[in-house]
Amino acid sequence: MSGVGKGVAVSSIGKILQARGFEVTAIKIDPYVNVDAGTMNPTEHGEVFVLDDGTECDQDMGNYERFLNRDLTGANYMTTGSVYLSVINRERNLEYGGKCVEVVPHIPLEVISRIDKAAAKTKADIVTIEIGGTVGEYQNVLFLEAVRMLKLKKPNDVLLVLVSYLPIQSKDSELKTKPTQYAVRTLNSAGLQPDIIIARAAVALDKKRKEKIALNCNIHENDVISAPDVQSIYEVPVNFEKDKLSKIVLEKLGLKTRGKDLQEWKKLVGKIQSARETVKVGIVGKYFGTGDFILADSYISVIEAIKHASYFLKRKPFITWLDSADFDPKENRRYKTNLKKLEGFDGIIVPGGFGSRAIEGKINAVNFCRTHKIPYFGLCYGMQLAVVEFARNVCGMKGAHTSEIQPQTPHPVIDIMPEQKKNLEAKHYGATMRLGAYPAILKPKTIAHTAYANSRHSEGKARRISRRHSESGRRISSLISERHRHRYEVNPLYIQRLEKKGLVFSGFSRDRRLMEIAELPRRAHPFFLGTQFHPELKSRPLAPHPLFIEFIRATIKK
Ligand code: GLN
Repeated sequence: MSGVGKGVAVSSIGKILQARGFEVTAIKIDPYVNVDAGTMNPTEHGEVFVLDDGTECDQDMGNYERFLNRDLTGANYMTTGSVYLSVINRERNLEYGGKCVEVVPHIPLEVISRIDKAAAKTKADIVTIEIGGTVGEYQNVLFLEAVRMLKLKKPNDVLLVLVSYLPIQSKDSELKTKPTQYAVRTLNSAGLQPDIIIARAAVALDKKRKEKIALNCNIHENDVISAPDVQSIYEVPVNFEKDKLSKIVLEKLGLKTRGKDLQEWKKLVGKIQSARETVKVGIVGKYFGTGDFILADSYISVIEAIKHASYFLKRKPFITWLDSADFDPKENRRYKTNLKKLEGFDGIIVPGGFGSRAIEGKINAVNFCRTHKIPYFGLCYGMQLAVVEFARNVCGMKGAHTSEIQPQTPHPVIDIMPEQKKNLEAKHYGATMRLGAYPAILKPKTIAHTAYANSRHSEGKARRISRRHSESGRRISSLISERHRHRYEVNPLYIQRLEKKGLVFSGFSRDRRLMEIAELPRRAHPFFLGTQFHPELKSRPLAPHPLFIEFIRATIKK
């Protein structure tokens, strides 16, 4: 079934192989026809993750980056849509030399060639490939076919892992293996036999279940790996090693281990398990609902970034979903009472978003945090709306807004970039936002500058700001690089007026036209900061993001 934890399983396999001294890279294959994840609503398919090169992709790519602590590129991501698109484009360019281009073998061959390219580009010893969807569904048949062809060509270099769920009906019943048996049969009918089965279940697998799976699924008992529920996904690599998974994989691939070092990761797990004191963080958003269920997937990187910073500061985060509609007078009559509840939180985050639904609810939440000195962290939309709130209520610009919501506003403090206007007019929506990593200069003696300068943890070195020197050798600025996904910006025409009333733009583009970070000085507020970029996309468990650390520090103080 979907949501069984394939992404975390793949990331964890990557981690334990990396800890054995191999360079590992990870590829995600998504079965949908969308060319990338950028045009999907987050409630459809979870968060849209963005890579340095601007690829808008599946949230699992975020898991890989977080576990492997590597920056990935678009070469590591493909969808049915993108594969077909390149085959069709190539056919139009006569690159198949007049041949009849067929679904089989040309589509699987394109998949294989992409896998080879990603491996070459990243100089990886081992590539993990996650095939999205479930065994037996029509959508990913061609990807299974690609694996079959790959395995046929290099039988000793390809290893197939099935992640399967074992249901348990009640506390007194036993784990059921039949669905796994059927999954394997279905896989067999695609010409594939799993080498390893990862048995996801609420509890650990006993010997009897392992034997049953082994016998019925045609694999060795030792190759059935127990994957019980855990408190934190970061425990999974350590759990896999209890069943000696890295050793099994390396033996099957005929590779000799190059050492073993999961120490730093184990330390992290220790920190997670021993954190007692809590911080209460509220996330005000709108992409939560799916029928009667709450979907945290839309903000997965934000949640993980909160966790990384909290663990780093030895705290256990307690995250609450707050629906922006609750704070919107148009949607909820009790919005004032609801706003007061924000006081019960140690910090509030307004994450990225699009469109007008319950927008005044978000702006009200920002206003409440600013005036009640509750630590506030705005991510992209959350920064833009903080600027809108500040313009309206501190600078006295009545009706100030972002032109995304109100094109006729008298004060478009957030406005569309000229090149973006052309995209929207031409209805060019896919992959046309300001996407991926851009550099920004930090203003000295600001919260942002101090936060980045202070981030001094082991694997965080790469993120530490680089000093640039002018030709005379004088230190002129500090440079950071962060990932973007938006069409609107702080309007340059309003910068002076906003600054005059006390808003500090502590980060900006090299040409100083684009504002990247806005904050209030410490004397005015304990922590009121927003970023035009998405810092959460670059936070890693072993290298928490400096701004999230600073935010969590402020929540602890509160
Ligand atoms: N909707 C805003 C924009 O396009 C913010 C986007 C976001 O939060 N990622 O600029």
